[in-house]
Amino acid sequence: MAQVHPQDVTVSTRLTDVLGRRMGSLLIEKLNLATVGDLLRHYPRRYVQRGELTNLDELVPGEDVTVMAEIAGVTGRRMRRRSGHILEVVVTDGRGRLSLTFFNQPWRERYLQVGRRGLFAGRVDTYRGKRQLAHPDFVLLGDDADADDEVVEAFAGELMAIYPATAQVATWTIARCVRRVLDGLGELPDPLPEELRRRRGLLSLRDAFVAVHRPRTWDDVRAARERFRFEEAFVLQVELARRRSATRALPAKPRVARPDGLLAAFDRQLPFELTDGQRAVGETIAADLARDHPMQRLLQGEVGSGKTICALRAMLTVVDAGGQAALLAPTEVLAQQHHRSITALLGPLAERGMLGGAEHGTRVALLTGGQSTAARRKTLLDIASGEAGIVVGTHALLEEKVTFADLGLVVIDEQHRFGVEQRAALVAKGREAPPHVLVMTATPIPRTVAMTVFGDLEVSSLTELPKGRAPIRTVVVPVSKPAWLARVWERVREEVAQGRQAYVVCPRIGDDEDDGTEQPQGRASVLELLRGAGSTNGQPAGRASSGRPEPVSLLELATILSEGPLAGLTVEVLHGRQPPETKDAVMRRFAAGEIDVLVATTVIEVGVDVPNASVMVIMDADWFGVSQLHQLRGRIGRGKHPGLCLLVTDAADGSPARARLDAVASTTDGFELSRLDLEQRREGDVLGAAQSGRRSSLRMLSVIRDERVIADARAEAAALVAEDPELVRHPALRQVVDALGSDARADYLEKT
Ligand code: ADP
Ligand code: MG
Repeated sequence: MAQVHPQDVTVSTRLTDVLGRRMGSLLIEKLNLATVGDLLRHYPRRYVQRGELTNLDELVPGEDVTVMAEIAGVTGRRMRRRSGHILEVVVTDGRGRLSLTFFNQPWRERYLQVGRRGLFAGRVDTYRGKRQLAHPDFVLLGDDADADDEVVEAFAGELMAIYPATAQVATWTIARCVRRVLDGLGELPDPLPEELRRRRGLLSLRDAFVAVHRPRTWDDVRAARERFRFEEAFVLQVELARRRSATRALPAKPRVARPDGLLAAFDRQLPFELTDGQRAVGETIAADLARDHPMQRLLQGEVGSGKTICALRAMLTVVDAGGQAALLAPTEVLAQQHHRSITALLGPLAERGMLGGAEHGTRVALLTGGQSTAARRKTLLDIASGEAGIVVGTHALLEEKVTFADLGLVVIDEQHRFGVEQRAALVAKGREAPPHVLVMTATPIPRTVAMTVFGDLEVSSLTELPKGRAPIRTVVVPVSKPAWLARVWERVREEVAQGRQAYVVCPRIGDDEDDGTEQPQGRASVLELLRGAGSTNGQPAGRASSGRPEPVSLLELATILSEGPLAGLTVEVLHGRQPPETKDAVMRRFAAGEIDVLVATTVIEVGVDVPNASVMVIMDADWFGVSQLHQLRGRIGRGKHPGLCLLVTDAADGSPARARLDAVASTTDGFELSRLDLEQRREGDVLGAAQSGRRSSLRMLSVIRDERVIADARAEAAALVAEDPELVRHPALRQVVDALGSDARADYLEKT
């Protein structure tokens, strides 16, 4: 059947050429495996050991499983009501039982005999309270004629591989194909250089394939996994090292601050002391900017650690050196706020050319999509002429008609909101040479993720918060306790009475443009509670009987609050569908203390900075992810007043959603929470190419667990690329690196 001579089989050979058209097509269709390499990298999910039966108690209904079990009973009978035969086979692992049913296959009774062992594959379901596999696929083990030779032979060793399989392609079918492929496989070009492999004691590619698919011992499995893990980390790190070295090869204009310039004047008038971290980051960035290749730096830090000041000081450095700096913000609200606060922090320094403006000062321009045409035209001119030294904006900055006189620095705030192409679009606006780039992340990320996801950037971290910050306390408020919810609004009133301000956050706006404005039943009772109507005839507030109810709507809640529990306070709304002038006006008034309670969507999630706000109520908190909650909560506790964050939820005690909220309530350490967030999003999603239809290059490697491997691989990769940037001496490596695909990072970022 094979059309390819065994020695010619390589990882890129098509499976149809080795296994025949029928089997080859089946593997493509059902498992998306097209080449020999695809199949060989379809690693076993687990192994069964000779003599060891599967723990039947652990089977979960709905899952496709393959179990090794022993036949404990067989009964065949004619069905009474319908004509036909049913064969029920009960298998056991020594304790638990599982029943298998076969319809109209009476002949199977002959060899399905009590005491025989076999592998049984199918989907677990329950029938009358018992777990069963309906007409499973199976193979029997043993030395006689009924046993499947190949499966038995697979047991020549101690272990047999169990593959991720489907209803149409059983694990033993995959095993059989793998075996055929392995038998025909010659020496393979190995992406890991031999010297490195030997030094680190790693298996060759071919040996590792054999060891992972047909292991004799657990040591084989371990050695194979170790090799694949290292390979995955290494290939990715080589790609990242190559990107770093490509950046280093680009020219850039060095930008050095003048000792008597804007930056110096700004530092003198700062109303507070920089933290040690801010000072250190400032020096690092200044050194980067002074070089003649572009800075590529990631600044990450705890929420509220003061990243903006670091960015502003970098921008002033560039302005001092005669260039311009652009700050790209993900939302209009945030862009407006940056514009306001930068203008305020600079004071007269931002009023060049105006009466009372400093002579060596500059101008700060704002460019957003919602501006009037006249305002835009003026701003575009100021940017093009260089009149505006600092330009703050949203995506509008990326448009083609925006040209800079001399763009020297691009700062991207809350980088996770932007795709890589957007960063590239802004960078392309450098006239003679690419500008320096500083990106800031909203949420701290674990070191290993920084090394993989942002591996082509240098990383700086701000770990301390400015002195004098009061702590934030977080409490989960179940809506099933009406008294607690009432207390929430009392607490808001108390804070306001002391001169503080509050945020109330809702997941949904609730205007005509929302889908499904109907209020499901369960949710109506929550609104009753809010209206103070008390409990509804013993009916529990909370989820509607079927499906997930719509979360509380912002517009509705704002009305209820200002008429009921928060009557007499100034309550206003802020959401993404308001016109930009409205958003700006509301934020200004909130910042000025003219609004007591701001009922908002997640437009305030990132960056919003009003130090007088001390309490935040998050409605339907379970609708938000861990990092998002941490970000939201970061809007309070930014001044000297202790913060209080109340997470209102109808998630049941003990549910995963509730556990997530409890975790957020238990710590304000963003690094810890981001780690938790990652774990919850499951490994594959981190660099998850799955949803883009591309397979992730990371299968064995865990960015959470394998910190050591990633760090080692990074060091090895850097050394190798330094010596051989084009990988001319490593063609096999070059090939897999090129095949890695354009950008694993985009996927991660888009999901944050
Ligand atoms: P984030 O890192 O979350 O972007 P910001 O840059 O918005 O944080 O800073 C949070 C708040 O802390 C702002 O009000 C800012 O003015 C203030 N701040 C920054 N640095 C210091 C400092 N060294 N001392 C006191 N307050 C500071
Ligand atoms: Mg910020």
